[in-house]
Amino acid sequence: MIKFLDLHKINNRFKDDFEASFSKSLEDSYYILGHNVSNFESEFASYCGTKFCIGTANGLDALTLILKGYIHLGKLKKGDKVIVPANTFIATILSVLHADLVPVLVEPDPNTYNISIQSIEENIDDEVKAIIMVHLYGQLCAVESLQDVTQKHNLLLIEDAAQAHGAVSEFNNSLAGNLSHAAAFSFYPSKNLGALGDGGAVTTNDNQLVNVIKLLRNYGSTEKYTNKIIGYNSRLDDMQAAFLNIKLKSLDSDNNKRRAIAKTYINGITNPKIKLPFYNGSQNHVFYAFVVEVEDRLHFTNFLNLHKIEWLIHYPIPPHQQEALGVFSGLSLPITENIHNKIVSLPMSPVMTKNEVQGVIEVLNSY
Ligand SMILES: *Cc1c(COP(=O)(O)O)cnc(C)c1O
Repeated sequence: MIKFLDLHKINNRFKDDFEASFSKSLEDSYYILGHNVSNFESEFASYCGTKFCIGTANGLDALTLILKGYIHLGKLKKGDKVIVPANTFIATILSVLHADLVPVLVEPDPNTYNISIQSIEENIDDEVKAIIMVHLYGQLCAVESLQDVTQKHNLLLIEDAAQAHGAVSEFNNSLAGNLSHAAAFSFYPSKNLGALGDGGAVTTNDNQLVNVIKLLRNYGSTEKYTNKIIGYNSRLDDMQAAFLNIKLKSLDSDNNKRRAIAKTYINGITNPKIKLPFYNGSQNHVFYAFVVEVEDRLHFTNFLNLHKIEWLIHYPIPPHQQEALGVFSGLSLPITENIHNKIVSLPMSPVMTKNEVQGVIEVLNSY
């Protein structure tokens, strides 16, 4: 059996450090917004190259609090439209709905799977006030063009960087999290930087936004029992922050391993029935997922099952066809729908062995 993602193996590398930090936390007994959170916030901001980082309970909340923060600052208002990619994990779209804003779903570029600049231009009108770009599968969007479009139309640019921790832009060498006005990260266990539970963060250089999100995540309060605004409870857990600080030190080397596996796959898989992902060979991709396309997916996944190779689909149903998002059910998004029908994610993780990678290549070439 070749595992899709061996989380035990990934995390067991840090067992001694995790146990030491747990013992220390048990001694210190600061459970909520303690030193581990503030340490992680400053380490992660400095890693991303941003002035600020604020921990949140998860990635969805990080996105939602950015939007609610902008509403609080008067930069967005109820009913404003926000452009989002149609092919994304549903959280991107839910954050817009939770903030009482209106998502406008646009098609991707079929090569990179990332939001298409042309479809953005086609959908911009006076009611559009922001764009959320998602660096899908770990590959950065066309950041330079997105910055141009948002500047030209005076829009907010927000990043959903939940799959792209550590990806480096070729055009200015900035990292994911520092390519827009504000970025949201998830530390869900399967992510490139994953906690042992839920976690998320916002990164930004905007000190007004930081101050609002700090209030919003903690009952509108920075001083105990003094509530300045109507807030939420969405704090990054202190123990998770300690684990994340330990794992952050290995993020770059883990991403390098993912890229090396991707290159081996791309060079090794020569079967014309399998369409390989677009990759320019740079550090702008951290391969959260290695996604191929096939015509007859059921036939292909049955073949993988037979050869004991685990696989996943990111994602099997596009958001506009989900029961929860019935308001979009009339939309026709042929590029997005076509992608969702053909994609399969292959095993990818920093702990895969050379033999496992070769095993996947051999099975795929024999398909
Ligand atoms: C994982 C993910 C999220 C949500 O993160 P949670 O921590 O699960 O809330 C948002 N957007 C994308 C693209 C993701 O992959």
